[in-house]
Amino acid sequence: MHELAVCQALLEKVESIALQHAATVNTVRISVGPLSGVEPALLQRAYPLACAGTAAQGSRLLIDAAPVRVRCRICDSETDAQPNRLLCSSCGDWRTDLVAGDDLLLISVELNKTSAVLSLASVSVADLHARTAPGGNDV
Ligand SMILES: [Zn+2]
Repeated sequence: MHELAVCQALLEKVESIALQHAATVNTVRISVGPLSGVEPALLQRAYPLACAGTAAQGSRLLIDAAPVRVRCRICDSETDAQPNRLLCSSCGDWRTDLVAGDDLLLISVELNKTSAVLSLASVSVADLHARTAPGGNDV
């Protein structure tokens, strides 16, 4: 299961951040490129499995769709492109190089330790975190 392996790799990074701050993880935000070969829905499903027993257990995964960016070999501009049509938006040429859109990036990690990271009001995670979440014990 490819997505589970991706989640585990992601969680290695997330956990090392959490351990540095001696905190548990509230929310993880990543961006997934349409050409990354990772299916966001499957990733979302695999995430709680990969989280079990880690500092990220009960945390939320937010997945942003990353744009596809190409650089044109003809006019040298960098533009957004459709995942299935890697054309230069500036001059329309097809001779482009992929700049972004095939990667999975860790955007941010919110920890349960300080009030600053709890600025997200709609915390509805496991009761493990309910005591640190403001008003979030209606799970
Ligand atoms: Zn161009």
